[in-house]
Amino acid sequence: MPRAPLLRVPYTGPLPAPRIIPASAATTSGAVAALVEFLSPSLLSATTRSPQSKFSAQLDRARSVNGNGDSEKTLLLTGAGISVASGLADYRGANGTYTLNKTYRPIYFQEFCDSHEARKRYWARSFLGWTNLDKARPNRAHEACGELGRMGVVGGVITQNVDSFHSTAHPHLPTTELHGYLRSLVCLTCRSEYPRRSFQTQLSLLNPSWAAFLAEMLASGALDTENPVERRKKGLKANPDGDVDVPDAPYTSFRYPACPVCLEKPPKRADGATVRVQVDKDGALDPRSEGGVLKPAVIMFGESIPAATKVAAEEAVDAAGRILVIGSSLATYSAWRLVKKAKDMHMPIGVLNMGGVRGEDIFFGDVEDMNTGREAARLSENAEKMLPQVVRILQEMHRKMIPLV
Ligand SMILES: [Zn+2]
Repeated sequence: MPRAPLLRVPYTGPLPAPRIIPASAATTSGAVAALVEFLSPSLLSATTRSPQSKFSAQLDRARSVNGNGDSEKTLLLTGAGISVASGLADYRGANGTYTLNKTYRPIYFQEFCDSHEARKRYWARSFLGWTNLDKARPNRAHEACGELGRMGVVGGVITQNVDSFHSTAHPHLPTTELHGYLRSLVCLTCRSEYPRRSFQTQLSLLNPSWAAFLAEMLASGALDTENPVERRKKGLKANPDGDVDVPDAPYTSFRYPACPVCLEKPPKRADGATVRVQVDKDGALDPRSEGGVLKPAVIMFGESIPAATKVAAEEAVDAAGRILVIGSSLATYSAWRLVKKAKDMHMPIGVLNMGGVRGEDIFFGDVEDMNTGREAARLSENAEKMLPQVVRILQEMHRKMIPLV
């Protein structure tokens, strides 16, 4: 069996500015019109599917024969750009390069698994960064996605984000979290999951001097801003994914707990021997332990995306009639290849992203001049401003369409 591809650090070279498609979408109002045009075939099919329609039963029968109930719905694929308005740092910044912190290097999966020291450093930084992430809420762009779902225009969302904003904003619209989620921890040994929020309390209790430092930073306002310049002034460096860097902090002193399930009932190895899981008197993991290590439930660089998640994402593409990328430069291959798959299936592709997108010529090279946005749309606009406008227009169209059918 071929080895599962590992999540790699994204391509970071400069991306050329996009060619706006259709050309009329170079203004915000033109972009809104183009996106309405792109989504309207999904609206049309949603309207004919509605219970008011005399054709709906007929259509449902036709669809069940094809075995595909969502064939005209739009699939959304979202990235960090959609969460920027929620106050979270964007990996790439407006110009498509790492602008936040040039020295930022994410932790690798193998490093996390193998090194107690690397985990101490990771959890210390995560401990300081969590407060901001936990406070952040979905924004109007996520809510617009939920509204498009309720209207039947959007059938599902695939997100590269680990902030859980989609599942919070629209719990009823199916969402595949391609790169996992920070709201939980997973045990590397027994795969039990735990909420990150209560883990924060455990970290506070195990690391009272860090908890005091965190309280001080919160009081100083250093953590109120995602602006790296402001934060640096107050002694902090900020990275994406709730990771905060404290220069010269004694990471070596940081302690973290073990998986309670593994501690209670140490698991057995294949050869029948018991996996040793030990903690100190306060409950901090003993580095001599052979298991029970907790990891954030995100896919780290160098880690492979679970097969079930990959399959869910591919099935979402198979079930869709069109795909719209929002706030992603598709820098990670796992996301790029889903759009490529849609392209290979001759699906109309839309991209709403400020700045360039990796390899976008492949998606838009063959667009015809007469395209109004229905067959392809490439927009470089602010999603949080634009999507609510698009939703309002589609709702108006929806109201007008129902009596006609
Ligand atoms: Zn465990």
